[in-house]
Amino acid sequence: MTKYIFVTGGVTSSLGKGIIAASLAKLLQARGLKVTIQKFDPYINVDPGTLNPYEHGECFVTDDGAETDLDLGHYERFLNIPTSQANNVTTGRIYQTVINKEREGAYLGKTVQVIPHITDEIKRRMLLLGSDGKYDIVITEIGGTVGDIESLPFVEAVRQLQWEMPEEDCMVVHLTLIPYLKAAKELKTKPTQHSVRMLSQEGVHPNVIVCRTEHPLSDELKKKIALFCNVKTNAVIEAMDASTIYEVPMKMLQEGLDIIVLTKLQINGYAAPELTKWRAFLDKLKYPQSKVTIGLIGKYIELQDAYKSILESFIHAGAINECKVQIVNVHSEFITDENVKEKFKDLDGLLVAPGFGLRGVEGKIIAVKYARENNLPFFGICLGMQMAVIEFARNVLGWTDSHSTEMNENTTHPVIDLMEDQKSIEMKGGTMRLGAFPCDIVEGTLAHTIYGTTHISERHRHRWEFNNKYIKDFEKAGMVPSGKNPGSGLVEIVELPNHPFFIGVQYHPELKSTVENPQPIFIHFIKAAKAFAEKKETAKTSILQSELS
Ligand code: GLN
Repeated sequence: MTKYIFVTGGVTSSLGKGIIAASLAKLLQARGLKVTIQKFDPYINVDPGTLNPYEHGECFVTDDGAETDLDLGHYERFLNIPTSQANNVTTGRIYQTVINKEREGAYLGKTVQVIPHITDEIKRRMLLLGSDGKYDIVITEIGGTVGDIESLPFVEAVRQLQWEMPEEDCMVVHLTLIPYLKAAKELKTKPTQHSVRMLSQEGVHPNVIVCRTEHPLSDELKKKIALFCNVKTNAVIEAMDASTIYEVPMKMLQEGLDIIVLTKLQINGYAAPELTKWRAFLDKLKYPQSKVTIGLIGKYIELQDAYKSILESFIHAGAINECKVQIVNVHSEFITDENVKEKFKDLDGLLVAPGFGLRGVEGKIIAVKYARENNLPFFGICLGMQMAVIEFARNVLGWTDSHSTEMNENTTHPVIDLMEDQKSIEMKGGTMRLGAFPCDIVEGTLAHTIYGTTHISERHRHRWEFNNKYIKDFEKAGMVPSGKNPGSGLVEIVELPNHPFFIGVQYHPELKSTVENPQPIFIHFIKAAKAFAEKKETAKTSILQSELS
């Protein structure tokens, strides 16, 4: 029998519900249970694929090609298991299903209403992942904040499920904020009391209250929260700000969140938590032996969530290399031929980020050129790979107006182009190459060294492709297409063998990096950056020595 945990949030948004849900899932998984997490988002978009990164941060893509909320990235990074379309549901998707059914006449002339039709569809989807007995526990995170108009049907669905299921099969964890008032030097519980009251008015009573706080909660304060919110004192969990999100499962373990949950759900005979790998990762993360500085060249750098999976992949790859990875964000719109040297002088590696549209691409091309000419380790992802191809076409092959037809439809050398069958498609949502595709790697290449195999699968999210019409010219001039899709022959990886580390990939490797399985290109990129930094250091010392002698 699958059991269900719902995670709601109160007081403010951005409290880290996703991290709390993922941490709880990690602890339950570490105790031998099969767990998955899903997110229900109250907005009307059918999926976040059409949302601007400024609105919603990164769009996380699953193996089955679903464009999902970035919290699914956290779920995968923590649990080390893939998620799918079923793990992310929005109000838009719920309504789309119900309206389609209504058009098909499935409601037999009945008036279609929020209750029961919308709530029934929400409940159906909430139970879906638990329907085939694959999981012992399904955790459902409800996006938004309790009290929002748009989250009401979701809370109502939770209320109904709680009423329908046996007591021990379902529970609610509510995450709130305990603000600290500096002037009064006091932590305040009132917002939490109000948000629990609001949730209760909607018919749902939380079993556990997790309190985000900047200061420790005294026993007295916990008692007060417990009394006013009508939960047991041990069900008030302190969630102090942590130095890294990966520390949160450890904090939740100390606080006993997993035990309270297991007790409420009447799960007996669980194992002691097996967290050896997790702890080893944390140790390496906390005590690095070296440091590298990586330039992240993008145009959404004001919003760090836009590059969430890339930043997390660097944390994983840094830890395994026992190396602190310092990221310097460089806005691609402001890189020019004149300032590039100054901007990049302290970097040990360059990552050109994914992206869409014209803004900032010329800066990215200048960045690639600098990396290529100065033997600076280079890693291009998706648009970053396309920029590497364009830079090579312009500056090595001498086709000066080369471009992607995404940015310039009239270029004489469309080295990045749409495939024939894509050209007639007009709808934007869901028309991209999305999800996992296989890729064959050429033996003896850098990609082969990195992956240690000739067959891989990675996730995609793009429309444009390397234009195979020019492949021979690139090969002759020294750019190697080291990975190709076995069916279509589309180029997935390019590299420059006469450079210490230069690789561009059409797919998004950052989407598959987890704590327990860091992504290999990131690992090798950091290694190359370390070597670059060491070389720079040796050169500096020898200059110093020759000046002294
Ligand atoms: N804009 C490019 C394309 O659609 C790259 C997309 C990306 O970087 N994810 O092909």
